[in-house]
Amino acid sequence: MIINSQKRSFGRGAKVSLFTLGTMRSTESLEKMYSIIKNAYYVGINHIETAPSYGDAESLIGNSIKKLAIEENIKEKNWVITSKVLPKGDFDFLKNNFKKSLKNLNREKINNLAIHGLNLKQHLDWVLSGEGKKFISWILEKELVDQVGFSSHGSYSLIKDAINCEVFTFCSLHLHYLDQSKIALAEEAIKKGMGVLAISPADKGGRLYSPSDILIEASKPFHPLELAYRFLLAKGITTLSLGATNKKDFEFAHKLRNSFEKLTKLEKSALNKIEEVSNERLNSTKCEQCRSCLPCPNEVPIPEILRLRNISVGYGQLEFAKERYNLIGKAGHWWEEKNSSFCQECNKCVPKCPSKLDIPNLLKETHNLLIENPSKRLWG
Ligand code: SF4
Ligand code: SF4
Repeated sequence: MIINSQKRSFGRGAKVSLFTLGTMRSTESLEKMYSIIKNAYYVGINHIETAPSYGDAESLIGNSIKKLAIEENIKEKNWVITSKVLPKGDFDFLKNNFKKSLKNLNREKINNLAIHGLNLKQHLDWVLSGEGKKFISWILEKELVDQVGFSSHGSYSLIKDAINCEVFTFCSLHLHYLDQSKIALAEEAIKKGMGVLAISPADKGGRLYSPSDILIEASKPFHPLELAYRFLLAKGITTLSLGATNKKDFEFAHKLRNSFEKLTKLEKSALNKIEEVSNERLNSTKCEQCRSCLPCPNEVPIPEILRLRNISVGYGQLEFAKERYNLIGKAGHWWEEKNSSFCQECNKCVPKCPSKLDIPNLLKETHNLLIENPSKRLWG
């Protein structure tokens, strides 16, 4: 059965569904990719997001789309495709790699191309004046893509600069109910007419498909993931990425496929309840993410670490917070490089905190709560 779903403008490109199929998790076989894309179609999704760095994803998508046209009569032009390119390499390298992407996707052109992981200032420089600039001009001039955007795990100020550099017309950001630190940037991008994609609100947003009892209870009568999706859609975020691995993962994408409206009273009251419960559990130690404590002379990313504390202590998503904390220092420029153990207890941050938090002790407590297999205890 064909499902009607309304679409939203996505920058200068083709309109997209409120949910976008992320394809990093469905690369094990053609059958798997085919079945995931088919399920996506039947819940109203028309936007597929991929990257050459997701294994064989591009060729599996290309072949699945061809097969769906034959077997299900789903026209190839139904699909809006976004792929990516890493911000490195010279013009010839980029050109050849992009041609490979087109060949794998079975397309003469694709809708959208994102600079994948614009995480450092040198990446933005590469776009504005380096080989990246040459490549972007070429690709647009040859009309091989409709528009160019970026995805970023970088700092607030870097993303702000990228939004305002006038090269990009869409962006993919970490926008989550449990981490609202980039929401203001998304709103700024939307105001400029850019398309905004929220990267993985279910998984990177706190593993909300596996919520704590605390969240389940406070969210009633909704599922915490459903509320998190609604929060983002009501903010006007264009589309939310969903890395589905089976039919069940599409449940909320189906239910919320036309969910354009503002938050209802019942939704607002459930969100308020979540905040009440979390504030009570944090007992005046909530980090408000204002960033006034920065910079730390030892480059400790205080707000990021205390956000993981908010998420584990306040919302009960301990496993997610552990996973993120233990990834610090192991993911290069894709995540933070220093954990709480770099704090020298100089106390310089303390007077700058409007919430009067005992930052060094909270960092210590967070480390002891989240670190896995510590070789030795760092404190106490
Ligand atoms: S107390 Fe720790 S976190 Fe605060 S400024 Fe000093 S080193 Fe940085
Ligand atoms: S100043 Fe205080 S509330 Fe603000 S981010 Fe730093 S620790 Fe959190």
